[in-house]
This record gives sequence, C-alpha cells and structure tokens, in this order.
Amino acid sequence: MTSAPSRDPVDIARFSDMKLSDERLAAIEALGWVTPTPIQVQAIPAGLDGKDVVGIAQTGTGKTGAFMIPALERIRAGEGLQVLALCPTRELAQQVSDDSAALAKGTNIRNEAIFGGVGYAPQIRALEDGFEVIVATPGRFIDHMQSGRVDLSKVDYLVLDEADRMLDMGFRPQIEDVLRGMPKKRQTMLFSATMPHGVHDLALRLTKDALWVEATPSGTTADGIEEFFYSVKPEKKPDLLLRLMAEPGWDHVLIFTRTKAGADVLEGRLQREGILADVMHSNRQMKHRTRALERFATGKVRVLVATDVAQRGLDVEGISHVVNYDVPLDPEDYVHRIGRTGRAGATGNAVTLVTASDLGAMKSLEHRLGRRVEKTHLPEFDYAGTPQTESRSAARRGRKSRSPHGMGSKAAADLTPEELEALLNPGS
Ligand code: AMP
Repeated sequence: MTSAPSRDPVDIARFSDMKLSDERLAAIEALGWVTPTPIQVQAIPAGLDGKDVVGIAQTGTGKTGAFMIPALERIRAGEGLQVLALCPTRELAQQVSDDSAALAKGTNIRNEAIFGGVGYAPQIRALEDGFEVIVATPGRFIDHMQSGRVDLSKVDYLVLDEADRMLDMGFRPQIEDVLRGMPKKRQTMLFSATMPHGVHDLALRLTKDALWVEATPSGTTADGIEEFFYSVKPEKKPDLLLRLMAEPGWDHVLIFTRTKAGADVLEGRLQREGILADVMHSNRQMKHRTRALERFATGKVRVLVATDVAQRGLDVEGISHVVNYDVPLDPEDYVHRIGRTGRAGATGNAVTLVTASDLGAMKSLEHRLGRRVEKTHLPEFDYAGTPQTESRSAARRGRKSRSPHGMGSKAAADLTPEELEALLNPGS
C-alpha cells in the first residue's frame, strides 16, 4: 500500500482541495474564481484550522476571500452575530460586505455593511435580527454599541482589514472599545498593506501563534503594474495629462488629487475637453459618491477624479491607469492608490506626476518602497528637460529608454532622481 504524498499548503492550487463546503465551492465558482491567489492558498487552510492569521496584503491580492472564506465556513446560521470585520472606509466596508454576501450564496447566512453617512434603520434591523456577519467602519459601529444594540457575546471571529489605514485614520480608540466588549476566546485575522510599528504591535497583542503571510513584500505593489514618474512643470500638469490620455489604452482612468478643490478643478477641465469624468471626495454627499463610483465602474464615465477617500476599497474591474496627479504625501498612500489597477492578475499602469518641488517626496517614496520607479518625461511638459538635455542624458546612459507613451525613444528619458536634480540645478 502506498501512502498519499504529504502536501505542503503552498502546493494547493485549487479551492476544491481546501475542505470547503459544497455551497462555498459553488459560490466561489459563481464568482468566476478558478484558482486561489497566493494569499488565499496560505490563509484559507490556516483559517479553517482555527488559526489566527496576520496578512500583509494590499487590495487586489484576494485578501477578502482569504479571511472571509474561513469565516463563513465556521458560522452557524441563526445563532446571532459571529463574525465582525472592521474596515477603515465606507467604500471598503461595502465591498467586503458584498464579497461576503457573494461567498455566502446558497446559505442562510446574512450580512450587513455598517458605516456612517447613511440611514440607521437597516443597520439597526440587522443588529437586532442577529445577522451573522457585520462589516463595519469603527465610528458608526461604536455608535450602535453605545446605544446598546450590539451583542458581541458570540463574536468569535474578528477581522481587522487594512489595519494600517485604520490606525492612520485615528481609529485606535474605537478599535480598543470594540475589543473590550468582545470575547477573549476568538480567532483574529489582521490584514494590512504595510506593517508599521503600530500595526505590528497590535498584531502581536491581538493574535496568538498566528500564521504570518505576506502577499508581496511590505510596501511593494501587486504584480502586473507598470509604474512611471513623469517630471512636469506644475502649470503644465493638465496639458500633460490630456496629452497622455490621448494615447491608446487610456480607457478607464482613476486620477487622485491631493485636494478636493483640485479634484473639482481637474474634473471641470476634463469635461471642457469633452472627456466624460466624475469626481468623488468627502465634500460630496454619500449618494453622489455612490453614483460617481457606479458610473465609473459601469464605464459610463471614462475618468474618476478622487481624493484619498477612494483609495481603499474601490474595487473596479479593468482600471487601465491610475494617475497620481499630485505625489502622495504618505508613501503608504502610493501603494494603496496604485493597487486600484492591475487587480488579481490583470495588468495595469500607474503614472505619477512629479514637479520640481516633489523631488524630496519622490525620493522618500522610493526609499520606502525599497525600489526605484522608472522616470520619464515628455520634453514639452518637463520641468527640467528640453529635447537637448534629454538626448544628452540618454546618450550618457548609453541605452535606449523605454517609452510608456508610444512616443518612441526620442521623447522618453529615464532619469534617476539625482539626474533630475542635476538637470534642475546645474550648479549644485
Ligand atoms: P481583494 O484583494 O480581496 O480586494 O480582491 C481583489 C479582486 O480580486 C476582487 O475583484 C476579487 O473579486 C478578485 N479575486 C479575489 N480572489 C480571486 C481569485 N481567487 N481568483 C480571481 N479573482 C479573485
């Protein structure tokens, strides 16, 4: 008799090998997920075994399935709230809740997204009826807790999703309040795109013998994203953007600006140029934000201009380009923003516009990412370059530069930050 070969968890490449219920496998199939993503390969078996998991994974890696599939397998329908997932933003809470509902298809498991800016009634009903899964932002959830509507006594599966972002947004006190009201004996799944000290400490404190899994090294982007930094004069940013958008392939473009006013101005300019665009930021009412997102997701508008409100949880298929119209001040924001493209194996493009005053931010960003991002420019928009300096630079480097924008090597140059600086301050 031969014994079955022992199987390392990372060898599992099919959901059907994961001891999942028939309903779950059917739901996964209905979602069109054929093979588990790397983070799912590692986290799902551990989660099913009751282990705590700390996942370093950004959106786009399949992390929601990684924590929700084991959660749903252990729930007893009709026995009250058992799974609580906390998320930093409304958009992410809605997305995780939608994924959870899709993964629970064919069962009696009920779930509700709870966040601010919308009416209380459906949320109260879900809490009072003992929906088994709640996906919530901390602020509104605490509201409900303080009103005595939440029964945490049976919650034995806690998810902290995008923990780094929740701490950045100052949600630590609310998280601590939730933890105090929750049974100590529970399974905890903590997911975070990056692992700064605060999150690391939280992970160590909240989990026991956790399996630590990493989708991509901390701070790096999901595979399949081509990234470019374009140097540009500040006043030429709109023209450069329009020039780039005239290139083939710029079909579905998400643009991040630093300010709400900047987003409004840019949206107006795009509209005047005949480009269908919408805007999404926190000064807009929830219903406008939802509509903007829907119009973008369904392809009714080609461009969505957003502030950081959209950076997490915005799960739109087929974004061809993410543009950082302004360099993100926080390197973690960069990783999250560009994670909107190149989702789950697809390829995408991330373009960041860099002005002379952004050089410091750009360097610290690269330092934090632990890698260099390819620099390029179009001479007529560049703050430093002229066709002459560019060709000198390319010649000095002794190689043909890669062109991301179909202009051929004559217009694209690949400059290091030092070279950019040298061009900018020739005497220094
Ligand atoms: P997430 O990282 O959880 O936000 O997932 C990113 C996107 O990948 C979502 O659109 C998911 O529906 C999709 N996705 C998650 N897991 C898989 C999988 N195993 N195969 C294909 N797509 C997936």
